[in-house]
Amino acid sequence: MIYLDYVASSPIEPRVLDEFIKVSKEYIANPNSSHKLGVKSKELIDECTIKIAKILNVLPSEIIYTSGSTESNNLAIKGLLSKYANRGKHIITTKLDHSSVIGPIEEFGKDGYEIDTVSIDNNGIIDKEELKELLRKDTVLLTIPYIDNELGIKQPLADIVEILKEYPNCFLFSDATQAIGKVKVDFTGIDLVTVSPRKFYGIGGIGILIKKDNVLLNPIIHGGKSTTMYRSGTPELPLIASAAKSLEIAVESLEENNKKISKFQNDIKTFLESFSDIIINSRNDSVPNIINFSIKNINVSEFVLELEKYEIYVSTKAPCCPKNSVSRPVFALTNDKKLALGTIRISISHKTQQEELDEFYEKFKICCDKFQIR
Ligand code: PMP
Repeated sequence: MIYLDYVASSPIEPRVLDEFIKVSKEYIANPNSSHKLGVKSKELIDECTIKIAKILNVLPSEIIYTSGSTESNNLAIKGLLSKYANRGKHIITTKLDHSSVIGPIEEFGKDGYEIDTVSIDNNGIIDKEELKELLRKDTVLLTIPYIDNELGIKQPLADIVEILKEYPNCFLFSDATQAIGKVKVDFTGIDLVTVSPRKFYGIGGIGILIKKDNVLLNPIIHGGKSTTMYRSGTPELPLIASAAKSLEIAVESLEENNKKISKFQNDIKTFLESFSDIIINSRNDSVPNIINFSIKNINVSEFVLELEKYEIYVSTKAPCCPKNSVSRPVFALTNDKKLALGTIRISISHKTQQEELDEFYEKFKICCDKFQIR
């Protein structure tokens, strides 16, 4: 099997699984119980939260645990907009944002919010001049992905933070689900940030929403006490401990991993460029783990199924998008519906082996012959 879809989900790092099992066995009590065992669990949660906050360079009080990025994105957007309903009803978003960001925003559109979408330039970077024109005194929310999950383009968040200094009413939200372990992150000046251990070899079922202390939110899940007042439910200590472990490993091995991955990315791009029917959509500012490309004049879903016959697994677009629809980010970048329909995303990892790529090249060529791809 050759797995080339690490962006959709990454296998759990064994040290993370060990941590999950160890904590599950040794800490049985609810961290909010007042007895001695509860206090022991609470101490470990606090330790993990301090560790996570330190690595992400935020405060422990700014960490909210959720079930994953979809929930974090929903909590950030719904919680913020309902809390600050009196501030304004104008939102700016992008075509690179994930469906779990666009979905809640569209819900507010039905409730009378005005939504603008800022364009991207030829390099996939947010058009800052257009953004300045779109910003208004009643803009309450701007969403910019740290790195999108299809093209993998890193956005200049520090520049956006500068622009927003003139708009103190506007909050900045960034979905950084695809960023941890891929690039060095800096969340300075960003009000709300989503982080997902599932994407950096952690365990699914836990997400992190960073909410800066000066920002307020209405909860979307109500109930009993948890680690914060913003999200109810018994804190999942083994998951929280596993999240801290996966974050620690992802960040400490980032540079070493990227060296290996960047070489593989270059090799794959060079290989794909030898076909005249293939157009590379990834850009210079794309992260090394993603190679997004389009194949002209074929049905890429069928092509991907052909690769699957050789146990090679890639994605046409993000798995959460409807089948046979255009890739929103590729369409935004190319303005070409055919290319946006014919998109394939390969995503690699430090776990990827040269032998796997050699086999991928061989089988890919066979599939190209079958589909008459030149
Ligand atoms: N945001 C981004 C950028 C993503 O890539 C994903 C997952 N593909 C999500 C949000 C949603 O994550 P989850 O399905 O784990 O809730």
